[in-house]
Amino acid sequence: MPRVTIVGSGKSYLCVFGLTIAESLPLHYDVTIVARDMPGDADTLDWASPWAGAGWGGGTGSSPEEIEIMKASWRYFWELSERCPAESTVKRIKSVYIRDNTDTDEDIWWKDMMPDYRIMDPSELPASADAKIAITYTGMVMTAPRYIEWLRKRVEAKGVKFVRATIASFDEFRTASEKFGPVPDVLVNATGVGAGKLVGDPEVEPVRGQTILLRDTDGQLSKQMMLRSGNDYCYIIPRLDGTVVIGGIKDYGSTSPEISYEQKLDICKRAHELNPLIPTDPSKLDAVRDIVGLRPGRKSGLRVDSEETNGLKIVHAYGAGGGGFALSAGVGRKCAALVDAFVNPPGPLKP
Ligand SMILES: Cc1cc2nc3c(=O)[nH]c(=O)nc-3n(C[C@H](O)[C@H](O)[C@H](O)COP(=O)(O)OP(=O)(O)OC[C@H]3O[C@@H](n4cnc5c(N)ncnc54)[C@H](O)[C@@H]3O)c2cc1C
Repeated sequence: MPRVTIVGSGKSYLCVFGLTIAESLPLHYDVTIVARDMPGDADTLDWASPWAGAGWGGGTGSSPEEIEIMKASWRYFWELSERCPAESTVKRIKSVYIRDNTDTDEDIWWKDMMPDYRIMDPSELPASADAKIAITYTGMVMTAPRYIEWLRKRVEAKGVKFVRATIASFDEFRTASEKFGPVPDVLVNATGVGAGKLVGDPEVEPVRGQTILLRDTDGQLSKQMMLRSGNDYCYIIPRLDGTVVIGGIKDYGSTSPEISYEQKLDICKRAHELNPLIPTDPSKLDAVRDIVGLRPGRKSGLRVDSEETNGLKIVHAYGAGGGGFALSAGVGRKCAALVDAFVNPPGPLKP
């Protein structure tokens, strides 16, 4: 039975890449997830997944590899939204994508695939949205903490084991140990921001985000997801569970856990421009909580590849930045294929 160890996931504040990769591996694999964070731990910024919006929007500027991964993810989540929206929390929603720095959609790679895609009439939006062009389509949202909890249950049902540990170096897996068991056939590195140190990758960069989680008791804010990008970056993501996330902060390189009141004011002001129902005064918000989280950024983009160093076979999956949920299912499938290529290399079958 091939042994695969995935580094990078917690059992409570679960991390989307490690769990999705575990879910994507064949049932007969012996899979262990090495987790730094376990149930009952206090909130920390060391992992990003619980803090996501999380919405599925196409975005622009993706590499051809990322586009293929996003398409695979899209198909997977679309199916979940059809088959089990209540359990998975993945639901379809009218989405609005506003560009404030260009009036064309020529460079939008997803325009031919997104359901109900159309360019909006300016009268459909408030003037304050400052749209040079606005597009509507049917996108998807999920409640990130509940989605990863659902994923954990599926992974546990497959027999995946969890071991609590912080890894100082992948060398810890070169020999059998009491803690981690036999040497794995393949090691998967899904450590998000942690990959910077573990791999010595200078491209890894935390990108601090700050958001506000709102209650939406009358459902007025949950009618559509909105994203403005170009010069400004701001979003309103209904989770379709009675709450809505508003945000639009990207602090490159910052790891500050503090809630900034100035940023909170700024989020309210800009979200109000997109939807005037959101008050500009933070004290008038029906807020559940403020959120600060670190996106696991990588300057040159997502890394999903494999390498063999001194006999250790490693599959890397990190650098999701602000799109880890949208990318996760495609990353899981690509990693499963890379693991499989190590386990079953081309050539004559082993006796
Ligand atoms: C405010 C905010 C809003 C977001 N909105 C969206 C959105 O709308 N849509 C979307 O798709 N994405 C969104 N994201 C991004 C998304 O949350 C991330 O891309 C995603 O969670 C990354 O998942 P990951 O598993 O790669 O990393 P993480 O969740 O950071 O997990 C990394 C794991 O590695 C472990 N680890 C690290 N180093 C070590 C070590 N040395 N030893 C042991 N374990 C280690 C950590 O404990 C953790 O378990 C948002 C993020 C933030 C912060």
